[in-house]
Amino acid sequence: MTHLPKTAGTDEMLKKAGLRKTLPRVEILKVLINAKEPVTQQQISQVLSDYSPNKVTVYRTLECFLENGIVHKAFVKDRTAYFELGHNCSEKQCHPHFTCKNCHRTHCLTNVKMPMAKIEEAGFSIEHQKVELDGLCPKCSKSGDNRR
Ligand SMILES: [Zn+2]
Ligand SMILES: [Zn+2]
Ligand SMILES: [Zn+2]
Repeated sequence: MTHLPKTAGTDEMLKKAGLRKTLPRVEILKVLINAKEPVTQQQISQVLSDYSPNKVTVYRTLECFLENGIVHKAFVKDRTAYFELGHNCSEKQCHPHFTCKNCHRTHCLTNVKMPMAKIEEAGFSIEHQKVELDGLCPKCSKSGDNRR
């Protein structure tokens, strides 16, 4: 496979998660490593078009990665799930995502730390905290014309 950018680290990621190395796993991981923002299953399939694993393989591989925490479901937009690697998240918390109401782009706020919700005392045990924000992105809030 030479059509995709070579990326180190896929072997280690699979090993750490205790997963066997298979071609679809490696290729899908590469797509996610090279993605600049969260991607949908369809976008992953498009990037893999030369190698074209079937939809079920892509779906099952993503499910497997989700279970192992290698991949996180970043957010759902228009009923479509967007995936990203889990390496920018802590064990219990994903970095926040900001969706601009004007340009509809969603940004990963990987440097923003959110305090965990304090609900453990009330008997809730948190497995995962996700924070979604919306408003205007820096670009849109600068160009006032775009405001409704
Ligand atoms: Zn995450
Ligand atoms: Zn915007
Ligand atoms: Zn993200």
